[in-house]
Amino acid sequence: MLGISSGIITALIIIVAFFIIFAVLQKLGVLKRFGLELTVPFLVWQTQKGKKFIDGTARKRKRFWKNYGSFGIIVASVCMVLIMILVIWSAMLASQIPADQAPTADMVLAIPGVNPLIPIWYGIAGLAISIIVHEFSHGILARVADVKIKSLGLAFIVVPLGAFVEPDEDEMNNLSKIKRSRIYAAGPTTNVVLAIVLVLIFSTIFMGSISAKQDGVIINQMSSGSPLYNLGIEGGQEIVSIGGVDIEGIDGFRELDIDPGSDVDVTIFDGDSEKTYQVKTGLVVTGIGKDYPAEEAGLEVGDILLEIGGETIRNYHGFIDYMDGTEAGETYNITYFREEEGDITSQITLVDKYQAYEELYPTENREEFKGTGYAGISVNYLGISVWDSDFLPAMLARPFQGAESFSEYVSSGMTYIALPFLGLSPVPENIANLYEVSGPLSILPTSSFWVISNLLYWVFWLNLMVGLFNALPAVPLDGGHIFKDGVRKLTEMLNIEEKKKEKITSSVSYILGFTILFLLVWQLIGPRV
Ligand SMILES: [Zn+2]
Repeated sequence: MLGISSGIITALIIIVAFFIIFAVLQKLGVLKRFGLELTVPFLVWQTQKGKKFIDGTARKRKRFWKNYGSFGIIVASVCMVLIMILVIWSAMLASQIPADQAPTADMVLAIPGVNPLIPIWYGIAGLAISIIVHEFSHGILARVADVKIKSLGLAFIVVPLGAFVEPDEDEMNNLSKIKRSRIYAAGPTTNVVLAIVLVLIFSTIFMGSISAKQDGVIINQMSSGSPLYNLGIEGGQEIVSIGGVDIEGIDGFRELDIDPGSDVDVTIFDGDSEKTYQVKTGLVVTGIGKDYPAEEAGLEVGDILLEIGGETIRNYHGFIDYMDGTEAGETYNITYFREEEGDITSQITLVDKYQAYEELYPTENREEFKGTGYAGISVNYLGISVWDSDFLPAMLARPFQGAESFSEYVSSGMTYIALPFLGLSPVPENIANLYEVSGPLSILPTSSFWVISNLLYWVFWLNLMVGLFNALPAVPLDGGHIFKDGVRKLTEMLNIEEKKKEKITSSVSYILGFTILFLLVWQLIGPRV
């Protein structure tokens, strides 16, 4: 089933209101005065000034733009290959994704206000900028090739969803293939070039000047079984000390040596001040596999592990080390603490880790897991997953640090683009509070620094999306036209009849276009069949 989120409903209400208001204004004759016209489904704004600007820009640096267009054909072709790999790869993954984790329609659409991951104002700004530079680039290259521009403007459905620079169609058809391809390639190229420039500014200049105020660990996700959860503590705050021990980074957190189940002071920093809470410490069960040993032994989410096989489990590393030494099929005593019931001891018979991984995480399975015991629980200290206090500058300013192989570079790059999917968009306000700005940019008011940072990221992100999407080799997208002209050029090198050349060209481009459409739709349907 396609999930209809409240985001879509809100968007629908706004869209309907938008059309009613502009339909009334159109009736009253107000719209015309501003060059606006409502032609459902768009509110269209046409401008003459834009035409003059494009004309002037094209005339002044004709040579530069011509070279830019030729460079653009290379950039657009590279993007075409990359986006095709990405589309095929994600369509292949689609059939492996369980239905409840499948993307919903609103997640796939990169439209601010519809996609819940895109913050609305940054999203609108990013989309508007990417569309405008895209269309102006087409326009400038059209003028360089002496093609007339019939109309120019923006098309709105609440936000500017499309911009159009409509070159004279007959003149376009009479152009040489290379000139026409330059015009089509310029749009995606400007998006991609702008995206690269902006992401460099964002990462080196902006994220390069932040540092953590304190050395603790930042709460990322919190299980409902966490003792911190009931105290109303939220993610994005920093734990600076536990039981009087200062936490220095994630390793310090994972190696804390405190008796499990004891009440300790946990000091939490929100960016401005510190607060101390009394918390029962230890490894908290955050998830239980259905029909696995832990469930059969009676464990529940929220239980705190005390002992397994007579050994006290003090921290995450302690748990992993102990489990690595267990044997499948053996029975162990397990003692845990449960709120209101106190300490409980029961027996757990472990299953084979290799077989369990084969079922649960086949891609992470390893030969050496054979024979090792597996309980089927996930545990986390205090029931939370944490980030190192330094994670934000490390991830955003030095994303490729530590990457050695080609695939590590690729995955670091993908993570950078996927930040919104990790709950970072890219820097939520509560997390921003934990960092201070140093260097020349510290003259900016802190709030402006973060607004500009987020804006840079989103304008980068949407330019990349608009650029890559338009490079898809499917007519009417720019990539489709470039691809079609390329295939036509190939047929001309072969010794066949004129009529057949046209036929081959359009068949190839139709088949590819439909394949792409299918692959895109498959990402929604694939996981659900
Ligand atoms: Zn375009």
